[in-house]
Amino acid sequence: ASSRTPLMAGNWKMNLNHLEAIAHVQKLAFALSDKDYDAVEVAVLPPFTDLRSVQTLVDGDKLKIKYGAQDISAHDSGAYTGEISGPMLAKLNCTYVVIGHSERRQYHGEAEETCNAKVRAAYRHGLTPILCVGEPLEVRKAGTHVEHTLAQLDGALKDVPAGQAESIVIAYEPVWAIGTGEVATPEDAQEVCAAIRGRLAELYDGSLADQVRIQYGGSVKAGNVAAIMAQPDVDGALVGGAALDADEFVKIVRFRD
Ligand code: PEP
Repeated sequence: ASSRTPLMAGNWKMNLNHLEAIAHVQKLAFALSDKDYDAVEVAVLPPFTDLRSVQTLVDGDKLKIKYGAQDISAHDSGAYTGEISGPMLAKLNCTYVVIGHSERRQYHGEAEETCNAKVRAAYRHGLTPILCVGEPLEVRKAGTHVEHTLAQLDGALKDVPAGQAESIVIAYEPVWAIGTGEVATPEDAQEVCAAIRGRLAELYDGSLADQVRIQYGGSVKAGNVAAIMAQPDVDGALVGGAALDADEFVKIVRFRD
């Protein structure tokens, strides 16, 4: 993982209002220094309603922290009540957008076709997808977790050209490890992250596969992040619960210490 800059991204899910968001990002900004940003890319993924406040803070204080959204509409504008479009997120200077989080797949029925449309929407507007893939518990028990995860990857990347896919971030998040406190072993994470990189080499080429960052997500904490990051194909973490505690998230960013 040495040639790829690790990406530590905090997925706040449906937590922190815009005032709490400002306080939280200020805490992160106060704790993090250039030394941290040189070693690791740091991003927060707040609810939509926080993004304008985060943008104002990041711009005003010239913070090196990146930010993005947790979802995007597949459509660019129009009669899609409740949706948020790529142009809106681009206007807020979002860098990233999470696509296909397991909670979207589970509670909103998002499957491959939707994820693919959202990946293409993100690229239409210069946003970098953090594409989440990963198997539920029954698939893990059946031993078909690699096939399951790679099928999600294939579906989401359909007709996405190399010139776009080269910047994608993939988050391998086994569903049974998300918010459960049950973390995959470093070897479990490595197995699937390596398979994802292998499939990227097949879909595109080896140099693209080598460049793409693959995160692990699922109950990452300060206490387990170093062992996961020591795996050769793990290039960062998508952090849910532990990202809501600024001190804990800073420790995750400093996983090498
Ligand atoms: C997530 O929301 O993507 C996640 C991995 O959550 P947690 O860290 O709480 O398991």
